[in-house]
Amino acid sequence: MDYTQPAKSLPTSCLRCGAEVEQKPGPGKIKRYCSAWHGKAYRQHARAMGFPV
Ligand SMILES: [Zn+2]
Repeated sequence: MDYTQPAKSLPTSCLRCGAEVEQKPGPGKIKRYCSAWHGKAYRQHARAMGFPV
């Protein structure tokens, strides 16, 4: 993650399946997953691998 760039201006890929994730302009959180359940699945997997997510 590069915090010197406005991350929302960059195209984002779903961390779970690699699908392109559309970012809404303006304030708010960056979307990193194509769907809520992909975020959940990714965090579950990361936790299983020992990452404190
Ligand atoms: Zn996905």
